[in-house]
Amino acid sequence: MADKKKKLSTNFGAPVSNDQNTMTAGARGPALLQDVHLIEKLAHFNRERIPERVVHAKGAGAGGYFEVTNDVTNYTKAKFLSEVGKKTEVFVRFSTVGGEKGSADAERDPRGFAVKFYTEEGNYDLVGNNTPVFFIRDPLKFPDFIHTQKRNPATNTKDPDMFWDFLSLTPESVHQVTILFSDRGTPKTYRHMNGYGSHTFKWYNDKDETFWVKYHFKTDQGNQTLTQEEAQTMCGKDPDHATRDLFNAIERKEYPSWTVQVQIMPLEDAGKYKFDPFDVTKVWPHDDYPPIEVGRMVLNRNPGNYFAEVEQAAFSPGNFVPGISASPDKMLQGRLFAYHDAHRYRLGPNYHLLPVNAPKAVKMDNYQRDGYMRFDGNEGNKYHYYPNTFGGPEPDSSAKEPPLEISGAADRHKYSYQNDDFVQAGELFRKVMTDSERDHLIGNIVSHLVNAKKELQIRQTAIFYKSDTDYGTRISNNLELDLDEIKKLSEKLTVANEKMDYTNWYV
Ligand code: NDP
Repeated sequence: MADKKKKLSTNFGAPVSNDQNTMTAGARGPALLQDVHLIEKLAHFNRERIPERVVHAKGAGAGGYFEVTNDVTNYTKAKFLSEVGKKTEVFVRFSTVGGEKGSADAERDPRGFAVKFYTEEGNYDLVGNNTPVFFIRDPLKFPDFIHTQKRNPATNTKDPDMFWDFLSLTPESVHQVTILFSDRGTPKTYRHMNGYGSHTFKWYNDKDETFWVKYHFKTDQGNQTLTQEEAQTMCGKDPDHATRDLFNAIERKEYPSWTVQVQIMPLEDAGKYKFDPFDVTKVWPHDDYPPIEVGRMVLNRNPGNYFAEVEQAAFSPGNFVPGISASPDKMLQGRLFAYHDAHRYRLGPNYHLLPVNAPKAVKMDNYQRDGYMRFDGNEGNKYHYYPNTFGGPEPDSSAKEPPLEISGAADRHKYSYQNDDFVQAGELFRKVMTDSERDHLIGNIVSHLVNAKKELQIRQTAIFYKSDTDYGTRISNNLELDLDEIKKLSEKLTVANEKMDYTNWYV
């Protein structure tokens, strides 16, 4: 019997004779350095953790497929979208944003919604959120913004003053703040929420005709949310509830799915549309750019090992395939750098070789070599430079992206304030929300904002008032603020004033 058991070995394959008793000098003596098995085991244990993601640390993932259900070849030549019925393998990671790896899934927070398509032209990553917009529209502001969502440098606790100070000095955030404090800020599970590419992207077809595009993943399970009270209870009862729910649903073969839609904007509309379509704090109204169905995404496979597939999964908005590329959205431009950079730091320069990150439907072939953890054969004896006459890989000019006309001075331009920062938050409040959704929104904001200093309450409420007078008035009344002061302050939030610097708008 004993011989049939698998044999325990060291990391280098040598048999281990005993895994219960440390080698000591005498039965009651000190441990010996020559117990190399003990040393290896303890040393490896000390190195089990890799750096936690600064954002999106807590996540859950699953595999599945994407199937094309509608012909979009007029807009893009991406091969994985080339035929109705075509299926492409995907891996998806959902996450919360601000909390650490052990934080609760039910916290009020945007949710990450990252999809990796393993296409025959290489991996295409769409690294979005469950909200169609973002708090800020310039990547220079990102580290500051995230610091305010994290812990106070002295107390090491979350800080409502930092939170509302930054947001009230950054009025462009009010649209995302309104979504975050609606019940959509606490989705029931990862299965019951939409995903959005958020940014504007570029699509081009085989005639090099170019379009701007926005992605929407609509949950087929129906949008379901937790109330603030339910979310708070869930945080205590089961901090991993959404992670558990996704895994268990897939085990039960209740495979979650999303209907994928795109909004398409003709190239020339970008210059003349009523606002800058590359501003990630805005949506494109459905009436102007109606969503078109593209396909369906189904998740039907749980990862066999969390660390290998989910913790090491590395997505980048810079992973494009021919037919899809970036727009001039500044936040996207910043992310094109930041994601690869984060993964090189977190996982090492060869993170693309890890099975979850490596292309599956095509083989990677280039002249990059060496580096930490080059755990494949490092391309053996193949030459490692280009051009060469030894049959190495050649660039493929058919993968060329059509050129984009650009003009203007190199400068630190701001997004034009003709972009009204308040109208879409107001529309969401007035036009989209039901009475009870509005009640929840007001209650959710008030219970958080009440913990900030009075001056911050006033400043932030003026921003809500500017978005919608009823919205601001209700918050003002609940916080027992002086409504006349709020009204006066909100007049300083002048729209369409190019000279206005919103960082000091309240002065
Ligand atoms: P529509 O009435 O055509 O669309 C409203 C959208 O709002 C729907 O996609 C709906 O998603 C979504 N929605 C409903 N409740 C909430 C909520 N609490 N938080 C966030 N989204 C919600 O209107 P418009 O296209 O003219 O847009 C009006 C407003 O709707 C926008 O200012 C924006 O705030 C919001 N919105 C718009 C989106 C867009 O791409 N146009 C996308 C998402 C939100 P669902 O159908 O899945 O319930």
